[in-house]
Amino acid sequence: MAKNLSDLAIQYFEAHEEEAIEKLCQLVRFPTISAEYCERQAAFSDCALWLQGEMSRIGLENAQVIPLENAPPLVYAEWLGAGDSAPTLLIYGHYDVVPVDPLEQWSRPPFEPVVTAGRLYGRGASDDKGQFWAILCAVEACLKSNSGLPLNVKILLEGEEEALSAHLAPFLKENWDRLNCNGILIADMDALHPQVPLIMYGTRGNCTLEVHLKGPSHELHSGTYGGGVENPLNVLVRLLAAIQDGKTRRILVPGFYAAVRPLSEREMAYLEDLPITDEMGLAITGAPALAGEEGYPLKARISARPTFEVHGICGGYCGEGVKTVIPASVTAKLSFRLVPNQDPEEIGKLVRDYLVQKAPPTVTIEVTPWGKAQPATVDLDAPLIAAGQRAIRRGFGAPPKFVRGGGSIPILNILQEQIHPHILLTGFGLPEDRTHSTDESLSLSQFRNGVRSVIYLFEEVGKFSRQA
Ligand SMILES: [Zn+2]
Repeated sequence: MAKNLSDLAIQYFEAHEEEAIEKLCQLVRFPTISAEYCERQAAFSDCALWLQGEMSRIGLENAQVIPLENAPPLVYAEWLGAGDSAPTLLIYGHYDVVPVDPLEQWSRPPFEPVVTAGRLYGRGASDDKGQFWAILCAVEACLKSNSGLPLNVKILLEGEEEALSAHLAPFLKENWDRLNCNGILIADMDALHPQVPLIMYGTRGNCTLEVHLKGPSHELHSGTYGGGVENPLNVLVRLLAAIQDGKTRRILVPGFYAAVRPLSEREMAYLEDLPITDEMGLAITGAPALAGEEGYPLKARISARPTFEVHGICGGYCGEGVKTVIPASVTAKLSFRLVPNQDPEEIGKLVRDYLVQKAPPTVTIEVTPWGKAQPATVDLDAPLIAAGQRAIRRGFGAPPKFVRGGGSIPILNILQEQIHPHILLTGFGLPEDRTHSTDESLSLSQFRNGVRSVIYLFEEVGKFSRQA
């Protein structure tokens, strides 16, 4: 019986799966931590060159490393062999990863990947090296089997997503014609369960800030001066505590919720349909109890509501034993995940004004914005979403559910505005992948189903556009 084109491509992938996983291990070995780009420039250029070589090897054309000033290079390749009348899909992924500390809490070194019990362990295995690698494997399978690709593809990989993509926006603005396409595919998310794949129709925004307080000109003996001079660490914890109501978990910064757009009926129905329970939250996180904004279920709190988090406090003495000092200066790193239509810049200003106004004259305060990301939602009526829905159902054997992602993809709204409004945002990770945490890993069966889904997506998108 004659096989159809996706069957041929899937057959090719299955015959070469071991090699694909070995290559993914090679990719995970590059320590491309974008937060440490200055010390790790060699890893970035090595990884970018390796990707360029691999993209050529799998049959893509025009593979190139694109240097950016003071930032990790981009890697780009394309295959336009389907011709002008065929649709073009732009694929975006990121080859940078988040830092690995606390290193001592990893069961094995983060950049020495191992495959065990159906999982590939290593920093970046799931976020996002393994996920964009699945897409490249699908491209390879189509190009190298007799199936061919029924559409054109352009692939853009960046090395600064985890550092909020500061340098990508200007590149997109200058290169919109080169990236001209009929839709965009991003796989950089978790499914809920192997049988509950997800399509993300939005992401939260992010506003990250650093609060710096200065007290005395130098560290002081707390016995000699305590009670007479302000301790900036005491002030810092009071200020941070004043940001959020401890009981309702509402953020107390005036105007913080003013721009929050309520969920539409369709979004409410999608939220209703998500099988996320408190029990799942407890099992995945290992927390003794769940927390969050009063009046909202867990599934809303982790996706459709804004949040406030303190990520680190620095100052004073945390070493062994006791050192009774009044620190001279202290710092806290904060972030606010935002939802449509909150603006990170506006929120940053509101928080800064609030803290400055609350800080006593006994300290000086500086609030510095770091990276930011706009919240975004995608067009759910785009043909690409329907194609993705069918492809994922075939690839995973279960229909995808729709969710607003809780994380942030800083470049999402810029891709929408500059390149194409139709974006299919999905992912082959699982909640237990521990992305951004210690012992990150990727389920290889998810990886396999991801490759299959993308092969089906290529078939669907090609077909759809010819009908349209
Ligand atoms: Zn990612």
